[in-house]
Amino acid sequence: MANTTAELEALLSQRSLTDAQLLAAAETSADFRILPDATVLKIGGQSVIDRGRAAVYPLIDEIVAARKNHKLLIGTGAGTRARHLYSIAAELNLPAGVLAQLGASVADQNAEMLGQLLAKHGISKVDGAGLSAVPLYLAEVNAVVFGGMPPYSLWTRPAPEGVIPPYRTDAGCFLLAEQFGCKQMIFVKDENGLYSANPKTDKDATFIPKISVDEMKARGLADSILEFPMLDLLKKARHVREVQVVNGLIPGNLTRALAGEHVGTIITAS
Ligand code: ADP
Ligand code: MG
Repeated sequence: MANTTAELEALLSQRSLTDAQLLAAAETSADFRILPDATVLKIGGQSVIDRGRAAVYPLIDEIVAARKNHKLLIGTGAGTRARHLYSIAAELNLPAGVLAQLGASVADQNAEMLGQLLAKHGISKVDGAGLSAVPLYLAEVNAVVFGGMPPYSLWTRPAPEGVIPPYRTDAGCFLLAEQFGCKQMIFVKDENGLYSANPKTDKDATFIPKISVDEMKARGLADSILEFPMLDLLKKARHVREVQVVNGLIPGNLTRALAGEHVGTIITAS
């Protein structure tokens, strides 16, 4: 098997970029994590931010306290305003790429509001969390806020059916955690975690403390508490091999999850 730069370069210049030997050779370099000490939090749009002050203020307090011990990349969901926009735009026959732009603008509004609430603690909102000054913010104040939508914008790959962008803020926040090689990914929502059915509409739903991607698919829960493409992203991940979904409406849950406690549902890659 090729393992020197020269051998890899020879393969890269001669073969198809999907050639099996080339792909194997490209995998042999040591793993590298860009921000290994950071945790990505996703603060739900519909599930948390849309509930306003009652839900958001206590979380702000937890975030401010937690960043003394943790480096936090805080992404936002979009929520009800995005769903309203999607319904209007879809009825106007606008394409997925336009809906992705509209959704991103709402996630950005939510990030803007969290940024204002955290400003006096020295925590800033950034436009797009791709590197830029993000490492500096983490080094100086241990936290930064960003809109959680992935920046695919007009270049969004449409879903097989319909015009709703399939990769939204769950996927956007997870991809950031995975690409940066972060140590942890926590989704902050409004239920204790995953249930056997949507607990908002099925009162017989039972709580599932831990589950794998394959089990979730087998039980028909692929598009439930997380956006469906998330499961394949998680299954293929190199760094972030599990995520936890926690109920951010219960004070202390976020703090405990950050400390490594199992307070919600842990979803594992394998
Ligand atoms: P976000 O605000 O992060 O976008 P969502 O509102 O999209 O979060 O997702 C969380 C919601 O998923 C919960 O409020 C719940 O009503 C719904 N949900 C659907 N199916 C399930 C399930 N099987 N278990 C838990 N929650 C579920
Ligand atoms: Mg959602």
